[in-house]
Amino acid sequence: MQNDTTLILLAAGSSTRFGLPVKKQWLYQGEDPLWLRVARSFADAAPFPRILVVGQREELECMRLFAPEYDYVAGGESRQASLSNALREVRTPWVLVNDIARCCLDEALLRRILDCKGEADCIAPALPAVDTVYYRDAPVNREEIRLIQTPQLSRTDILRTAIRNGENTDESSAIHRIGGSVLLVEGSANAHKLTTPADLRRLECLKPPGSRTFTGYGLDTHAFEEGKAMVLGGVPIDSPLGFKAHSDGDVALHALIDALLGAAGMGDIGEHFPDNDPRWKGADSGELLEAVAKRIRGCGFEIRNVDLSILAETPRLSPYKTAMRTRIAGILGLPTPRVNVKATTSEKMGFVGRKEGVTVHAVATLGYFNWKEAS
Ligand code: MG
Repeated sequence: MQNDTTLILLAAGSSTRFGLPVKKQWLYQGEDPLWLRVARSFADAAPFPRILVVGQREELECMRLFAPEYDYVAGGESRQASLSNALREVRTPWVLVNDIARCCLDEALLRRILDCKGEADCIAPALPAVDTVYYRDAPVNREEIRLIQTPQLSRTDILRTAIRNGENTDESSAIHRIGGSVLLVEGSANAHKLTTPADLRRLECLKPPGSRTFTGYGLDTHAFEEGKAMVLGGVPIDSPLGFKAHSDGDVALHALIDALLGAAGMGDIGEHFPDNDPRWKGADSGELLEAVAKRIRGCGFEIRNVDLSILAETPRLSPYKTAMRTRIAGILGLPTPRVNVKATTSEKMGFVGRKEGVTVHAVATLGYFNWKEAS
């Protein structure tokens, strides 16, 4: 048991250079996202008293549902800002830090690092350079070159001081910069960093995503308001009535957003866009839908199809259904046949029948993003 060591897993990156719609930490491995698989592999290899997972703030709730036994910390703008947030929570004298992108744990490497605990302020894995190395326009002696990997084991207090002293790409360089001691141990090809989609084929520990699908359901109702412009299904509707709402009141897109969030297990529209937040006053619901689709894709899902049923006594919607399908398909980046819009009345019964407002039901189906096909 590593009683004196906290494990920090850095999984808050936005994967902007990765080139796929999914963030690396959310690549599904069977039924588990990558960050969870990495956390479990460390927990199985060496029992740590506490595991801190650093994630993007809006994803922490969702992460906690996967594994309530770990602790979660909101990341910052950079790797170092994320690490700094996590270090505030650490109470042990030692801390082991690993990037989620180093996703194939080599247990022998972990053992080599932990066995050297106490021998330096930082213990880091390193590989020799196998290629010829140039610095600017001249070759250098590659025997003197070391390429540094993670995980790295550091003294918590020294690391805290070190990262206050400017931006660094890892713990060893931060500690070295303030005069701390760094011990390099033999690295591992398995600790290669997942950087580009080509690495998805190279890293042998990665498993393909599972084939399950997920269904979500959404429901929304809005009352009419006279003299407001009506937007429904992302399309302007010729009507003397609009919808009473904090946003543009597009009740169809709101129901659809809830269906998508429901399928992804990501809560509801009010949690993502609170109606007491001035940022969303008069918001274009098309932009909210686009943001939700991006968030869902970022978390490892792909949208398979959506289907909407609009209940309205007035206005007559059949002339607009095709335009709504095209508009929603455009926002979601789906082929139009994968978006269906139905319109019906409620036979003059209830509040819809009395022409007081409109109700929309929506269903969405998601699957895991198949990164194996995309890589
Ligand atoms: Mg609404």
